Amino acid sequence: MTKKRLAILGSTGSIGTQTLEIVRQHPDKFEITVLTANTNVDLLAEQINEFKPKYGLICNTILFKNLQDQVTTSTKLLSGNQELTNLVSIPDVDIVVNSLVGFAGFSSTMESIKAGKKIALANKESLVVGGELIMNALKHSKSYLIPIDSEHSAMLQCLVGEPKKSIEKIIITASGGPFRTFTIDQMKSVTKAQALNHPNWDMGAKITIDSSTMMNKGLEIIEAHWLFEIPVDKIEPVIHPQSIIHSMVTFCDGSSKAQLGPPDMKVPIIYALTYPNRLPLDTPRMDWTLSHELSFQPVDYERFPCIKLAIESIKIGGTAPAVLNAANEVAVERFLNEEIGYIDIPKIVEKSLNKLSSSVKISVEILKEIDTETRAFASRID
Ligand code: MG
Repeated sequence: MTKKRLAILGSTGSIGTQTLEIVRQHPDKFEITVLTANTNVDLLAEQINEFKPKYGLICNTILFKNLQDQVTTSTKLLSGNQELTNLVSIPDVDIVVNSLVGFAGFSSTMESIKAGKKIALANKESLVVGGELIMNALKHSKSYLIPIDSEHSAMLQCLVGEPKKSIEKIIITASGGPFRTFTIDQMKSVTKAQALNHPNWDMGAKITIDSSTMMNKGLEIIEAHWLFEIPVDKIEPVIHPQSIIHSMVTFCDGSSKAQLGPPDMKVPIIYALTYPNRLPLDTPRMDWTLSHELSFQPVDYERFPCIKLAIESIKIGGTAPAVLNAANEVAVERFLNEEIGYIDIPKIVEKSLNKLSSSVKISVEILKEIDTETRAFASRID
């Protein structure tokens, strides 16, 4: 097998650094062509010096000189968002690992499709906001998209070899996050430190907060809806606190398949890089000879309104998922800056949806406009 050449967008984040760990385990299978980071210039320089990619890019232009000072390889160094979008289409890239955070990742997904690249997608917001545009663009491209999200990787693994018409429903599992057993009253006083402490998964700050509010599960339902072209009504969320079953599919004959394993993002990452094949991975294994408890509970939509708002947004269609996403990004950032309380997050999302969403036919321009408009609105309201 010739080496697969990777562009990692967001290489200093949680998914980016774990992708590089996989490359370290399989230096004969992968090589790095592009590494990019938003602001973490020190780690980016360290990664460039280790992996010697052709291109290295820092989005924040102020940090460019700092990057130049630290890099000792012949890597071509760049900065800025426009250059980031251009980099995905260079010929020496086979797989684009899009692990950018938020709507910022959408343009890179669209450019990767235009350039016919294979995409390993960790940026779920791309699909949430512009799922229809992305799926249409994929139909006219040799590009294809493999999810890095653990739930969607599980669904894909369950669906290998199964015709679409056999799918009765998809069961998407959720850990329930750190506040699974909290009352609404207890949620009122949740602090940033509490919300950043996820019981099972070690992830970036934005997705950790989204997991705690269950907005993450809502975004993932929308993501699954587009990826597998399944109506949202056929995607059922269920609480599974152990995070061992990563999702399930029930088929028309009553049989269900599940994908299981210890919670470790390196598994969905390597599967996205090698699909439909597999490579050995040095990660913890389940010891099935020991006693384990796998339990399931229904989702409480009263205590976790974010997941309900996400499902409503996809039913409205048009700009509603874009409004939901932008309002949520702003609300999470404001919570992390300690400007608003924890239970203000769903309130801001709901007010934004009520005020701004419409079922118009979307285009890239409309999405960008509504994104900007929603961010301005969500930054002002309390
Ligand atoms: Mg997930």
